[in-house]
Amino acid sequence: MTTPTTPERVHIFDTTLRDGEQAPGCSMTTPEKLRMAAKLADLGIDIMEAGFPIASTGDFEAVQKVSREIPIKAAALARATALDVERAAKALEGAKVAPRIHVFLATSDVHLKYKLKKTRAQVVDEAAAAVALARKYVGDVEFSAEDGGRTPVDYLIEVSRAVVAAGAGTVNIPDTVGYGVPEEYGALIGQVARALGTSAIVSVHCHNDLGLAVANSLAAIQNGARQVECTINGIGERAGNCSLEEIVMVLKTRADRLPYTTGIKTEQLFPASQLLTEIIGVGVQPNKAIVGANAFAHEAGIHQDGFLKERTTYEIIEPKSVGVPESRLVLGKHSGRHALNARCKDLGLALEKAQLDEVYTRFTALADRQKGITDEEIRRLAASVIQDLSRKIA
Ligand code: MN
Repeated sequence: MTTPTTPERVHIFDTTLRDGEQAPGCSMTTPEKLRMAAKLADLGIDIMEAGFPIASTGDFEAVQKVSREIPIKAAALARATALDVERAAKALEGAKVAPRIHVFLATSDVHLKYKLKKTRAQVVDEAAAAVALARKYVGDVEFSAEDGGRTPVDYLIEVSRAVVAAGAGTVNIPDTVGYGVPEEYGALIGQVARALGTSAIVSVHCHNDLGLAVANSLAAIQNGARQVECTINGIGERAGNCSLEEIVMVLKTRADRLPYTTGIKTEQLFPASQLLTEIIGVGVQPNKAIVGANAFAHEAGIHQDGFLKERTTYEIIEPKSVGVPESRLVLGKHSGRHALNARCKDLGLALEKAQLDEVYTRFTALADRQKGITDEEIRRLAASVIQDLSRKIA
């Protein structure tokens, strides 16, 4: 007998407004960030990274407005320096919900040697000092070990323990360059999670350079991570971040194997995706999981026939559950008679069998010559068939 497991809560840290907007062509103005932030609140995310206040006056102002107007815990990013931490703290003054300062410093050998030109001991000291300073301003501090995925585990644990001792409540181990593979990254997260025990929440932040951001985040959750940093539509630096809609729907759809829950109202996923596309003018590819134009579209005749008989033959997620209005049967050269008949009925075309047969013959001929057939074209086909057949009888 299996023991029923109470699902464990995974916190969704959305960084659409920070890492996401750092992607080429994805930047947002303060009013745009406010619109998006309001939608993220509807979606039910736990924490919203609103920006990097030291980066620009615009970013400072965006963090200030978002944290003052939107009723979600806001986080502001800061490098591990006094100037950055103080600027982040200033931007978060007057926040509606107790805010978070998110301090980061790189820990991998390649970053220490070439970028920071610092020793491991210096990095431990500076990370702990910045966290301690941040804790003077806010009660909630997160530390990110930048390029943690490529940092030797012993050193990663040493840094993690030092920042927790300095007051960090969340330790994030990012796969900054999207290099990890699930088993390896999951094992690394497991070692850090076991070392920290209940002293801090372990978080992950995965990039998609090898298309593994969601898989790596899932492996991390299965090894003890309880916060996932992600973005709407998976936007972010280079190939982007872990896609919020995908990781959330993996946990929900496969709850039979994955005993974890989030606070996300999944019916808001598609609206949030659409709003982001509208704001930044950059959309997702049609075959994008969950929110792509074809995610719930069926064209192959065998699929359409099965789907019309029983939806679950070819659909594992109900479109409504993620806010997509309905499944779409695309009529094209791969479609069968069953789907065409269903569409004719939907269009209110009452056709007899002989008429339907002729519409189908003409439909397949037309579908061979062009990509996809619109409802208007089906109406015209039906009208011409009705006319031609009645002429024959007369
Ligand atoms: Mn990132």
